[in-house]
Amino acid sequence: MHRTVLIALFCVLAAVPAWSQGQPARPQIATTKVPGTNNVYIFRNGNNQSIFVVTNEGVIATDPVAYGRPQGGAAYVEEIKKVTDKPIKYLVYSHHHFDHITGGKAFKDAGAKIVAHKRVNERLAVQNDPATPPADETFDKKRTITLGGTALELTFVGLNHSDSTLVMRLPKEKVLFVVDLLPVGQIPGRGMIDFYPLEAESSIKQILAMDWEQLVPGHPGVGDRLGTKKDVQDQLTFLQDASEAVKPLAREGKCWEPVEKELRLPKYEKWPGYEAGLPFMLRRYCGLWGRGT
Ligand SMILES: [Zn+2]
Repeated sequence: MHRTVLIALFCVLAAVPAWSQGQPARPQIATTKVPGTNNVYIFRNGNNQSIFVVTNEGVIATDPVAYGRPQGGAAYVEEIKKVTDKPIKYLVYSHHHFDHITGGKAFKDAGAKIVAHKRVNERLAVQNDPATPPADETFDKKRTITLGGTALELTFVGLNHSDSTLVMRLPKEKVLFVVDLLPVGQIPGRGMIDFYPLEAESSIKQILAMDWEQLVPGHPGVGDRLGTKKDVQDQLTFLQDASEAVKPLAREGKCWEPVEKELRLPKYEKWPGYEAGLPFMLRRYCGLWGRGT
């Protein structure tokens, strides 16, 4: 096979979540309503997604999800316009990773004020990417956006998947939007590269203590389903199990190998992403218990 064809094939496969391979192809972009709400929507572009909230005074949007898609931000703005003629007042960046926030410029051009955790702007200043403008307003611990009778609570619960991740909660609708920290029904993967393992456990416990019923993940869950508190507890247990499995082996000098290549966690082998994602998990816990970071 020609090399460029092989690369194209690889890119297509890499963009498709493991659980959906073999399923019929679906549209690149889709907008759906969060069940049980009348004003909260999920915008999906490929294997990334975010929420937007429509109120009678305007729209609060989150993550443009346009990485590698120069028109993705504009396409998201167009999708919102199909639902409402109200102006987009806010865009909230979930954290600084580009696969979620690239494309913010289209929202800024549409008049939105961009809000993010303060570390996002420190990161974006280094990148200086024209498609991803810095936030107009940043904060450290907590900020609640109130618009048209709807509140969106933004909380920084500490280091976890990144050093800038916000937990977004709609108290009235009991909907949570958390990106990358809490995969729904699957094993985390390459995102472990700059993960803070111990602090993540603390973050997840804080999230479990919050009042919510449905979790929208930043990548579609298995079968596109939304998460529950049980899913979040299961992720926490998985992280704790991986950590406890690596710890004694690390002290015996078995990191990075053979742990990364040979350790298995059979309890989780049915979870999508197990084969591909487990080595990244083990590498990260080897970093913690074998190196102290
Ligand atoms: Zn991320």
